[in-house]
Amino acid sequence: MKTVGYAARSETTPLSAYDFERRALRPNDVAMDVLYCGVCHSDLHQARNDWGWSQYPLVPGHEIIGRVTAVGNEVKHYAVGDHVAVGCLVDSCQSCDQCRKGQEQLCRKMPVQTYSDTERFSCEPTTPTQGGYSKHLVVREEFVLRVPEGLDLSKAAPLLCAGITTYSPLRTWNVGPGNRVGVVGLGGLGHMAVKLAAAMGADVTVLSRTKDKEADALALGADRLLVSSDAEAMAEAASSFDLIIDTVPVKHDINPYVPLLDVDATLVIVGQIGPLAEPSTVPLLLGRRRIAGSPIGGIAETQEMLNFCAKAGVLPDVEMIRIQDINAAFERLEKADVRYRFVIDMASLPLPEAA
Ligand code: NAP
Ligand code: ZN
Repeated sequence: MKTVGYAARSETTPLSAYDFERRALRPNDVAMDVLYCGVCHSDLHQARNDWGWSQYPLVPGHEIIGRVTAVGNEVKHYAVGDHVAVGCLVDSCQSCDQCRKGQEQLCRKMPVQTYSDTERFSCEPTTPTQGGYSKHLVVREEFVLRVPEGLDLSKAAPLLCAGITTYSPLRTWNVGPGNRVGVVGLGGLGHMAVKLAAAMGADVTVLSRTKDKEADALALGADRLLVSSDAEAMAEAASSFDLIIDTVPVKHDINPYVPLLDVDATLVIVGQIGPLAEPSTVPLLLGRRRIAGSPIGGIAETQEMLNFCAKAGVLPDVEMIRIQDINAAFERLEKADVRYRFVIDMASLPLPEAA
């Protein structure tokens, strides 16, 4: 099927319109019109090849809300007209221990990413994947999520990455009432971490570089904002957290955050993918503290998160943009100038001419 998206042609070129093909429907595929797509900082990293594995032309986008237009004859759970969602994964081996546990994000053979990857399991292993900054998408049923009734479609897209990436560690570390959660960096992931942790009943502190976002942090559900550059305030907060989620997107120094953890507490890194400034083991050993990482979440947990958000009334704060404004949005994202997630209204992208 002919479609159109916005693609980076190289790490230095801005995104521009790109005509390409989506595969023909297979028996277990779901085809959809993309209605909305969130703009994750990973899209920017990937467009610029920050991680060194980008494949061009590259159509980013892994926070996708769509409407089903066709289903293969073996599809069991979706029908034409359903509102559906797709996140960061579109396939996995489905047979390893992690896939069988519903942790496709930890697939032993590496899951297939929604874009800048190559189909390896249920497709010709040469087909590049292309993401949601596009008019249409075809995904195998196992990687399609259902948008629960009542969730605002125009706001829900960021749940598919920012939402699940912060929900998963909150659940892994059993956050609930009485837990003290810190969130480093108030951006797309950070603001979802605040909303989700608050909805789970935790006491939430935002750790931000300046005081600028204090009013926002409180409005999002945080109990306070701690300025990470204020050494005195940081010293006062020593040993006062059960879990800290670090969403900072670049190489940075985690040493100021580790002493904030209580005994046996964990700093979980979900932001920077790559090297960090050298961590000292002193506060780790003395306080039996832990540093961990966490990648997105599995498909079942993503559905659980969508249902949780629908029930708890948790939705991202979004700024709607047209696809034509994506390059300006990337520039603002780089400067942390977004409150708190751009979402592309895909109606702004004209349909490709009929084949
Ligand atoms: P974002 O919206 O740009 O937010 C990042 C926040 O980090 C900013 O708002 C800012 O908060 C803080 N920050 C930015 N630059 C900083 C710097 N130089 N030093 C210290 N703090 C800085 O980004 P995002 O979409 O939330 O994504 C965050 C990171 O998570 C990205 O690297 C992305 O690739 C990664 N990610 C990982 C996963 C995963 O599976 N683990 C999934 C999705 C995304 P303040 O202004 O409050 O300081
Ligand atoms: Zn993302």
